Amino acid sequence: MSAVKELIAAAVDRVADELEALSHRIHGHPELAYQEFKAAEWLSDFLVGQGFKVERGAGGVETAFRAILETGEGPTIAILCEYDALPEIGHACGHNVIATAGVGAGAALAAVRDRLPAGRIHVVGTPAEEGGGGKLRLIRAGTFRGVDAAMMVHGWDRWVPHQDLLGIVRLGLEFTGKAAHAAADPWDGVNAVDAIVQTFNNVSMLRQQIRPDARIHGIITSGGAAPNIIPEFAAATFYVRAARLDYLAELRRRVIACAEGAALATGCSVKVVEAETAYEPMKRNQTLADAFRSNMQRLGLPESPEMKDRLGSSDVGNVSQVLPAIQPYVRIAPDGTPWHSRAFAEAAASPLAREGMLAAAKVMAMTTLDLLSDPGLLARAQEEFRAAP
Ligand SMILES: [Zn+2]
Ligand SMILES: [Zn+2]
Repeated sequence: MSAVKELIAAAVDRVADELEALSHRIHGHPELAYQEFKAAEWLSDFLVGQGFKVERGAGGVETAFRAILETGEGPTIAILCEYDALPEIGHACGHNVIATAGVGAGAALAAVRDRLPAGRIHVVGTPAEEGGGGKLRLIRAGTFRGVDAAMMVHGWDRWVPHQDLLGIVRLGLEFTGKAAHAAADPWDGVNAVDAIVQTFNNVSMLRQQIRPDARIHGIITSGGAAPNIIPEFAAATFYVRAARLDYLAELRRRVIACAEGAALATGCSVKVVEAETAYEPMKRNQTLADAFRSNMQRLGLPESPEMKDRLGSSDVGNVSQVLPAIQPYVRIAPDGTPWHSRAFAEAAASPLAREGMLAAAKVMAMTTLDLLSDPGLLARAQEEFRAAP
């Protein structure tokens, strides 16, 4: 098998310049969630050129794709790409690197297709990670049905095979009261901003009693029309995050209770408007993470410890709740570069990003080869998935 891994590494190196050019092209044309038409087209075209059969608009999502390479009846391994950018600051999450690492892994596997064990490789283009929940739509559409394991990478300033991700629920809270002249007849009014203030106070007290890895944070999105009118309407949006699905459900319930208590105290009514795109926590799969790690070691890549107190959220969490999945982190930025910053955007098109992208492509392709070659490895990953909470 190690001979095939040598060929995989060589295959990535052969397309290195092309992958970097593709990464820079995506980086130079940042497209927001569900608007990633160019990126999806360029990535799909690249995979067609490597011998993949590509379904554009997979799962009924216009900017998604699914590229398939089949070598016979066997397991199906998915490699996921993201390519959406952020408003105003472009590719400050480095999704151009995620995309090209994914298609680079696909290219390497296609290059050794005659030596691959029987099975299927899906390179899946998943739009709108930054809030739009593209992977949820693909899960609902059945795009991941029949997939035995999935992997993707994300850029950072270090290599880490597993990091937890917090699940997130987005709650809109809309309070309705009654308008009145704020000086002449305040007693006739029902103050919706008071309900908002009370909600924030209730949540602040709740926050003292929650687990350290949970997060609750909100903003006021509507806070009255003019000071001389008792506000008849006010609204806030809260994000509730937790590392486990059951605790996320509990905190969601308690934040809604904070709003209901505020409504009761002020005499307002409250409507809870919940976003459909709830991101679920990442379900750890140590078997897959270890397989990834051993290929990292093969390439001499340095590993950093898991970080327990700097946690984000992603829709890859939802994927990890329906099948064994990993999202290891790849060094593409100088030490200490924070995500969603202009410095991270700059790093995502630097020589360090090229280095990380190519190494990640190799490690993902090698890990896919391991999963196709060793039925015991895939069975252990699936057994761990079934046993985990
Ligand atoms: Zn991001
Ligand atoms: Zn990201």
